[in-house]
Formats: sequence, structure tokens, C-alpha cells
Amino acid sequence: MFIAPTGEMLTDDLDERLRAIVGIEGMIERETELERYCVSFDSTFRGSARYVVRPSCTAQVSAIVAACRRIGVPIVPQGGNTGLAGGAQPTDPRSVIISLERMQALRDIDPRNDTVTVEAGMTLASLQAHAAGVDRLFPLSLASEGSCQVGGNLSTSAGGTQVLRYGNMRSLALGIEVVFPDGRVWDGLRGLRKDSTGYDLKQLFIGAEGTLGIITAATLRLFPRPRDVATALVGVPSPAAALDLLHLTRAQLGEGLNAFELMRRECLQWVLVALPGSTSPFAEEYPWYSLIEATGQGEPGGLRTSMERALSEAMDKGLVLDGVLANSEAQRRSLWALREGQAEAQKAGGAGIKHDVSVPVSRVPEFIALADAALAKAFPGIRPFAFGHIGDGNIHYNPMPPADVDPRAFAERREEINRVVHDIVANLGGSISAEHGIGQLRLSEIAHYKSPTELSAFRALKKAFDPENLMNPGKLLT
Ligand code: FAD
Repeated sequence: MFIAPTGEMLTDDLDERLRAIVGIEGMIERETELERYCVSFDSTFRGSARYVVRPSCTAQVSAIVAACRRIGVPIVPQGGNTGLAGGAQPTDPRSVIISLERMQALRDIDPRNDTVTVEAGMTLASLQAHAAGVDRLFPLSLASEGSCQVGGNLSTSAGGTQVLRYGNMRSLALGIEVVFPDGRVWDGLRGLRKDSTGYDLKQLFIGAEGTLGIITAATLRLFPRPRDVATALVGVPSPAAALDLLHLTRAQLGEGLNAFELMRRECLQWVLVALPGSTSPFAEEYPWYSLIEATGQGEPGGLRTSMERALSEAMDKGLVLDGVLANSEAQRRSLWALREGQAEAQKAGGAGIKHDVSVPVSRVPEFIALADAALAKAFPGIRPFAFGHIGDGNIHYNPMPPADVDPRAFAERREEINRVVHDIVANLGGSISAEHGIGQLRLSEIAHYKSPTELSAFRALKKAFDPENLMNPGKLLT
């Protein structure tokens, strides 16, 4: 028996209610089948759940949420389960996971408005393909795009490799549809560039990691599909040189510059070992590498000439030590594989302590130098892996244990290492999560680094939308 918020005594008939809503095909109850929804991508987070429910439309999501709320059962929204912060794993075994994987419909595509409206369970790769089908680009691009879903991308405010030019998921969304924690549906699917009618409600749900409601659909921006592309991988002497190179290439290639990534030598070495078939395009090794890409609407080949000119000037200035330009789409893909294989390679390595930080772009070299020095002093022999989106000031700074230290002993020092890295980030005016979110991984960190004023505003919002704390409890906020 349960006592409802109204004081009414209720029986737990959730099984029958959920089955009546989604049918047998929409329920997963067997422990062996629940496993894949309860464990995170890199197996760092494990939870357990009473069921996984797989609705096929917004009305079903609404009915499930209402049924769970009736007897106070926690709800965990889940997309492709590729999140790296433990946001989609239950912290309470009574939880029901609501997987959006059956909600993949294309509701509308309007190339003349440059918008697309899709259900939240559509994978990012399918969304990109739908856009390409009408000769448009949906620019969000992540190594996980074959599995991650639009709802998860919105809920983590995902970034990826083209934020430099197109912005992150927050800036690509024009409207969303949400099921509130009480089961009401808010239809905010507006394809408008301008709307000055008060609070921008959608922005509250974007980046909320499922703690305020369930996103069931979204209207997103589309862009002209580029006709020309130039991609280069270059060896650079230092992060400071990479930053100068970013500005040099941007000055010459203008807004066409859509990706500017940075990788430490050890990251390239790691990916070459972990990913079968991958090879370095260089005969020698360099301390750092940058992957640079520009796209545009001009005649194919034009950007290559501009990129060559920019890189040749950079070589004369000592900013570039060596470089290769992709000659074909296959070569372009193999250069990107070296960068995009980082998450998989580190998963294979297993022992890194992950930081997804951002600082002002101009301060990235300072951040890396300070963090390397502080960790080397506190943990002699530590191997400071670092890669990421230097063009956005976002570095994945994932130190690995010294070669002679047991990874489990190293993992136990996570809090100390986090404090060293995040204190430096805070002093540089940065953020402890640029694109992966807080989830469970950074719960204590957000409590430490957000001001009491900001935290109390967060809590007030949570209470306003979800007073019973049933929507993804134990994530984002303690
Ligand atoms: P999930 O992992 O299922 O969920 C993530 C969070 O969103 C959870 O809190 C969940 O409760 C919530 N959620 C999911 N769906 C909904 C919904 N419909 N409504 C409300 N809440 C919801 N991220 C980047 O930003 N940039 C990268 O470059 C990047 N590269 C990656 C590379 C690899 C190989 C991997 C494995 C991950 C990478 N990620 C990256 C992280 C991850 O892919 C993103 O965070 C992605 O946006 C998560 O989407 P998902 O559908 O898998 O969400």
C-alpha cells in the first residue's frame, strides 16, 4: 500500500497499469534484459531498476509518468545510454527507466524554414541523414552519434566537434515538447528564430539531465549543406602554438573553420594501440596534434588551397611542425578516427580520471600547464592525457595512473585529483563540465563550485517542477 500526496491509500498496481499503457512489447522486466539499460557506456555506473518501459508516443510517456507519480516511483529518462556522467543509471532500485528508443518519428521537415521536428528517441545519425535527404546539414557531430539520441543530446546540452561554428545543442534547438513530472504535456515545438514572450522555458529543460521532465520531441535548426571541405592533421609544439594557429586559421578561413581539436602525443599513441587498423600519418611523433577542418559553399578544392596557404604561413612562424591534408573522403575519415577514437581508446584503457572542463579559449594553454605541474607534484609519475575541443576552450583532461600504480588505488584518489584540476579551472573562470554534464559523476563537485545563490536557484526550480523529487533523483543536484 502507498499513501498518495492527497493522503489516499493506494495499492501498487504499477505492473498492470504500465502494461496497459505500453503493451507487453513496451515492457522489459527480465533482469538479464534490464542489464544493458542499467550499466553506463564505460561500465563506471551500475544501477538497478524495477522495469524499463519503452513508450511509442508522447501520450504514453505522459500516462507512464502519471502512473509512477501516483505511487511515488522514481523515473529515470534514458536515451541512447552513451552519457559519460552516470545520468541515465538509476540510483534507486525502485526506479522505472523510461527509454525513448521507440520514439523515432520524423514529425516534420521544412527546408524553407531550415527546421526539422523529430521525436526524442531518434538517433543523432538518423537526424543527420534526414537533414541530408533534403540537402541540409544538422551540424551536431559526436563520436557516439550512431547511438545517442536527440533527447539525450538536448538533456546534456551536447557539444562535439562543430560547436566552433554552429554552437552546441542548446543553440541548435528552437522548440521542444516535454512531459512534466506531473504528466502534463507542454507543446513548445516552435520553429521561430525570434520569440520575445517571456521566459524561455525550453532552456530550462536543455541540460537538465532529465531532472525536470522528459523531452519527447524537438524542433531543431538546419543549415546549408557544405559543398567543399578541407581537413588537416598537424603536429604542433605546444597548446600555446595550437591557440595561435587557431587564430591564424580563423583569420584566413573565416567562419568556414568548423572544427579545431587538440590531442596530446600520448592520446594519439593510445588510440593507435586501442583501435585496430588505425595508423599515424606521420613518420615522427610530435608533442601535440591539432585536427583542423573548414567547410564552405564554394567550388570543391577552394578551401584546400586556403588551408594550405594558412598552414604554410603557420610553419614559417614555427606554429606547425608537420602536417597532412586529407586527399579524399576516406583519408578525411581516417584522420577523424584518430580524434574520435579517444573515448573508445580510454574506455579500453579504463583507468583515467575524467574531467570535461572548459576555460576561456585564451586560457587553455595556461590551464594545461598549471594542471600538469600541479598533478606531477602531487602524484609523481601521473600520465596527463588531454584532448578536446580547444576552439571551444573545452579540454577532456583525463590523467592516467603512473605505470607502476594499481589503477584501483589511483581511482581511490579521484576526489583529490578532481580538487586539484577543478580548483585550477575555477581560478581561470572555467566550468567543471563543458558538455558531458553532472550526472552522478560530478555531484559533489557541483555542490563545491557553484555559488550558494546559484544552487538555491537550481533547487527552487527543481522544487517548482518536481516537488516530489521523482524525476531522475540523485542526479545533478543532491
Ligand atoms: P543518455 O546517456 O541516455 O542520457 C544522458 C542524460 O540525459 C541522462 O541524465 C538522462 O536521464 C537524460 N535523458 C536522456 N534522454 C532524455 C529525454 N528524452 N528527456 C529527458 N532527459 C533525457 N558528448 C559530447 O557532448 N561531445 C562529444 O564529443 C561526445 N563524444 C562522445 C563519444 C563517445 C564514444 C561516447 C560514448 C560519448 C560521447 N559523448 C559526447 C557523451 C554522450 O554521447 C552525450 O552526452 C549524449 O548527448 C548523450 O545522449 P544519450 O541519448 O546517449 O543520453
